[in-house]
Amino acid sequence: MKYEAIIGMEVHAELLTRSKMFCSCSAAFFGAEPNTLTCPVCTGMPGVLPVINRKAVEYTIMTALALNCEIAEASVFSRKNYFYPDLPKSYQISMYDLPLSENGWLEIEVDGNSRRIGIERVHLEEDTAKLFHVGGYSLVDFNRSGVPLMEIVSRPDMRSADEAYAYLIKLRQILRYLGVSSGDMEKGAMRCEANVSLRPVGSAEYGTKVEVKNLNSFRSVKLALDYEIRRQSRILDERGNIEQVTMGWDEDRGVTVVQRSKEYAHDYRYFPEPDLPPLSISREWVEEIKAKLPELPDARRDRFVAEYGLPAYDAGVLTADKAVADYFEACVRAYPQAKTISNWIGGELFRLLKEAETGIEEVKVTPAALAELLTLVEKGTINQNTAKAVLGEMFRSGRAAAEIVAEEGLAQISDADELGPVIDEVIAAHPDEVAAYRAGKERLLGWFVGQVMKATRGKANPQLVTSLLKEKLQRRQ
Ligand SMILES: [Zn+2]
Repeated sequence: MKYEAIIGMEVHAELLTRSKMFCSCSAAFFGAEPNTLTCPVCTGMPGVLPVINRKAVEYTIMTALALNCEIAEASVFSRKNYFYPDLPKSYQISMYDLPLSENGWLEIEVDGNSRRIGIERVHLEEDTAKLFHVGGYSLVDFNRSGVPLMEIVSRPDMRSADEAYAYLIKLRQILRYLGVSSGDMEKGAMRCEANVSLRPVGSAEYGTKVEVKNLNSFRSVKLALDYEIRRQSRILDERGNIEQVTMGWDEDRGVTVVQRSKEYAHDYRYFPEPDLPPLSISREWVEEIKAKLPELPDARRDRFVAEYGLPAYDAGVLTADKAVADYFEACVRAYPQAKTISNWIGGELFRLLKEAETGIEEVKVTPAALAELLTLVEKGTINQNTAKAVLGEMFRSGRAAAEIVAEEGLAQISDADELGPVIDEVIAAHPDEVAAYRAGKERLLGWFVGQVMKATRGKANPQLVTSLLKEKLQRRQ
């Protein structure tokens, strides 16, 4: 690679407050009937006045603190002027030269290497309404108009599409741990734009940057950035000029396309919002919020290693999603064998969740129910393979492990008197294999165990079968 990519990200996240940014309408608009969550403020009627949502400010401070930012004692809401049908006031209340917080960082890990990505600012603004284009008409739904929107701007510190991807995943993880945003890109609750430029490796100057928009999933971020890096490399290889443009990602065709060139760049004519006083944030409030911050993903991962003796890999998998980490800890309280639980969650449970395309929040197997299942394995009532099948049934029906085992007669056969005749039958039915085993082909023992397991529909105690088989196969020599 002759060139180094320079990537910066702007992320918008809708906040999970009850009400909107400047009025008391509900902010829980997803799935609501269009234009039912509106009032004169969020539809931009003349003469109305905005009132700042305290919870939105608190959520933004929480995020800024989690991203190691400095919180400004005074910040100012500004009007960002532009004309578009989804913006009833013809301006968006945002922050410009005096944002709520600045100068933070976020640590990412790619291929085992940790890097700090600088955060330029975290500020607060309001979302726009939503347009629907139907058969030649455009319809406006104002339910989203005025929903609190947090903007997180990184420094141009990322050097590859993989790093940009890791940054976004980490950012979403933190937002979810804080409970301030769902971070759901597919639902538009988290949106991102990237700035990409290339420069020759070793050069200190920045190249011309291109803005990439319309990135609607984590996957599209990675694909679009990889594409854009290749596109710019080709132009530079041919000694061409990179134009400063805004590109959109065309998901279907897998290409970036020019949306707007520099000559049409917006002039937003920002000025301080005259209807709002400067936002003054006391140091006491910041300290209070800091003290209440929940444990963040990196700290929790480290604690899982220290407290439960888990390998770093397991701890990383379990803490990637807060709900999974909570589930794991509830399981450990009910059945204090952390590694066993980690194996079952990371293995069978994840497989079932993936198959059912659902999240752990929806899972019918409670931590207590999983603990009960593992206790049955530990006591030898059922073997590992039966336990996997039982978990599948628990997952589907929500029934208890002991109930499924009793009803379906799945208890492990650990009685030598009961297994003896079955083993004799298997031996009698396979004289060739018996002869081969006796002639020294000891690998066949595993095959014999398999035959007995099959004959008992997987219920035989495998350790007992193995020792009985060894004994019986030798006895007849
Ligand atoms: Zn409203």
